[in-house]
Amino acid sequence: MHEMSLVQGLLQQLHDIAGQHNTSRVLKVTMVIGPLSGVVVDSFKFGFEILTKQDALVKDAELEIVIPKVVYRCSNCQNLQKTAGERPHQCAACGDTLLITEEGNDLILQQVEME
Ligand SMILES: [Zn+2]
Repeated sequence: MHEMSLVQGLLQQLHDIAGQHNTSRVLKVTMVIGPLSGVVVDSFKFGFEILTKQDALVKDAELEIVIPKVVYRCSNCQNLQKTAGERPHQCAACGDTLLITEEGNDLILQQVEME
């Protein structure tokens, strides 16, 4: 499962951050998962649950997932449209059909709360 390795990467990142801040417990992790990132949110949550169990640093950490809107930019008039993920059929401003994805494929560690 692709998400397992993503969670492993996240845990590595958390250990690095904890080391820098000399902390031994992570309370809350906020992740931004773009609808176009290809990450299955439920699988990510599941992976987090499984992998944090054996890890004292994050054993009690709460996982919050933020799913941002996807931004499409019109190639003709630069008008921006936000959707939950689906591609608009055409630009709302000029009717052009060539819309370019601007945001929505990110996987970002947004915030970490530590003790
Ligand atoms: Zn347009």
